[in-house]
Parts: sequence; C-alpha cells; structure tokens
Amino acid sequence: MKCIINGKVVLKDRIADNLCIVYGEKIEKLCFVKDINLADYEVIDAKGKYVIPGLVDMHIHGYLGEDVSDGKVEGVKVMAEGIIKNGVTAWCPTTMTVSKAEIETAFDAVRTVKNSGEYYGARILGVNSEGPFINPSKKGAQAEEHILRPDGDFIKKHEDIVKVFTVAPEVDGAAECIEKVKAETKVLISMGHTGATFEEANAGVEKGVSHATHLFNAMTALTHRSPGVVGSALASDKVSVELIADTFHVNAGLFGLVAKIKGDKLCLITDCIRAGGMPDGDYTLGGQPVHKEGIKCLMPDGTIAGSVLTLNKAVYNLWSNTGLELWEAVKCASLNPATALGEEAEIGSIEEGKRADLVITDDALNVQTTILAGEIRYNA
Ligand SMILES: [Zn+2]
Repeated sequence: MKCIINGKVVLKDRIADNLCIVYGEKIEKLCFVKDINLADYEVIDAKGKYVIPGLVDMHIHGYLGEDVSDGKVEGVKVMAEGIIKNGVTAWCPTTMTVSKAEIETAFDAVRTVKNSGEYYGARILGVNSEGPFINPSKKGAQAEEHILRPDGDFIKKHEDIVKVFTVAPEVDGAAECIEKVKAETKVLISMGHTGATFEEANAGVEKGVSHATHLFNAMTALTHRSPGVVGSALASDKVSVELIADTFHVNAGLFGLVAKIKGDKLCLITDCIRAGGMPDGDYTLGGQPVHKEGIKCLMPDGTIAGSVLTLNKAVYNLWSNTGLELWEAVKCASLNPATALGEEAEIGSIEEGKRADLVITDDALNVQTTILAGEIRYNA
C-alpha cells in the first residue's frame, strides 16, 4: 500500500491540509498521519504542494503533432501519454467533421487503444464525436463539405465507443436523431456548432440534449430579445456546458458569471489541436490549414480553430480570473466532466473507493507528479 503525506489535498468541497491519502489502485482511505504507521507504506511526501484529483478532458482533438481525426493508433497513444504531463488522467479523444469513412477509421483507432488492455497514458473514456451533424452556418473550423444530416443510427452503431456527440438541434433530422440516441443509448447529447434560436435549443433540451459544446463559441449568442443557444444552455438546469478557458475563446471576465450560473455543470475543456505542446507555426485541423501563434490558432480567414490550451492551465485561468476557491475550479475539470459523462462513481474526486488518479502540483498548478490508478506515470 502507498500513501501521500504533507499535501494540500483538494477535495470536492474543501482543501484539507493534514490529510494523508492511502491508496493502491484505488483510494483506500483518507486519514491523519498519526493514525497510520508510515513504515508500512511506500510514502510520497508532497512537501506542501497541492494534491488534486486526476483531470478529465472531455474535448481534445490533438496534442504533440497528433490528431485523433488522423485515425492513427500510434497518434492516439502519443496523445494519451502526452496529456498526463498536464495532469489529465482520463479523456475523450475528439473527432472533427471529416468524411464519414475517416470518422469511422478514427473511432477504430480509439477502440484499438481503449480495448487493448495495455497501458497507454491517460485512460480513454470514449470518443467525443464533434460533428458531422452540425449547422454549416456555425461550422467554425469544421469542414462544410463533410457536414451530414443528423443520423441517430450512426451514433447507435458506434455506441460502444462514442461517449458524447455534438448535434445542431435545429437542422433537418436533428429531432429524430436526438430522440433515438436518447431512447436507445447512454451517449451524452451535446448541442453545438448550432444556429438554433432559444426556442429551438430549448426544444432540443426537451428531447434529450443535456450538454453544450464549447459555450459561446460556434453557437447563437445571448441577446436580451433572442437569448440563443447560449441563453438556453445557461438557463436550463439540465444542461452542462463546456468552456474553453484560455482567455482568448471567451473573455476571462465572463468566467465567474458562467461558474456562478452553472455551478457543478461547468466543464472545462481544452479543445486542443495537434499544435498543442508544439512550437508556433503551421499545422492542420480536420484537413484545413491552421497557424499557431502563442495561445491562438487561426485559419487563413481568421476563424478560430481550436486551442493549444492545457487543462491544468484552464483550471488556473478559471481560478485566477474569478473569486472561486481552488477546489471549485479544480472540480470544473474533474468531478464535473466525470459526472457529465456518467463516470463519477469511478473518477473525478479524491474520495475513498475511487480510482487513485492523483496529481501533485505547485501553486500555479504546474504538474509535478501524475499518478494513474496508483502508479506514478509522470514525474517532472
Ligand atoms: Zn472541438
């Protein structure tokens, strides 16, 4: 058995200074050091640093030059290994609107890694299929020629690997698609890349939409007479929302407001693309050219194309731009996405019985150590 001592342990509702985490593959117990005999344990001394739950990135396309939509098994493995350095211990490899054949190849690559039984970095929860069932008017960086009419059978066919998918609730065929997926699968239905009115979005929520893809980006905005998809997502208690908290996709001045409204339904994501973890320069996203400079990734026409954000940085950005406590900000990248994905019994917080996915960080949330299911997999 192992234990971590001297950490500032970030729990789901507070930070505990004197708790010791005893774990094997799972967290066995949280107790005080005086209650155990340290000689019986393999001890990690956190030396006053934070110990946070492993982070969960439910929306990430690429990292370190790789992209899930390439459909390469090796690429998925590289990403899974790469993101543990950012404290991510569970993730949803995310596809773009590429051709149906390419999407299915990407699903297969993710399946291969997920079902291999071997260890490859952060654990795959399932695919996030972003598109192809979107509205061309809000395509953002998605390729218009590959946009398809929403098809619930397609999601049903791949329900073994798809964990969440994006649909524009107002387009032709969306209502039937949402109804079918809601009735026949456990796949999380997310509205995004959508030109829906407030009313159309609400109708989608009534049918089964319970998540919103990168709130504010690629959806109808909130104005007082037409509250749009943003208004619907904020107003409905049923809907969890993703936020790209890189301070570029969304003005940091709104972070606190969104957190206040959505509470436990706010999920930080990266929407990171293959330029993540790479130098500035030219890359591609879903087959389209993208230029990375600093924290910005833009297509030649100026359209924002994903991000190069890391999830630990997203938590830091949320924390440092709001009055949130650190444990509240951490929750937005751990327990909240885990709950949206139905994985909260296993992961997402430091609690007895959950998997020992633990991350030791400094005060700026730079990752020092990442532990997956009780094993140290990364040490800075
Ligand atoms: Zn995306």
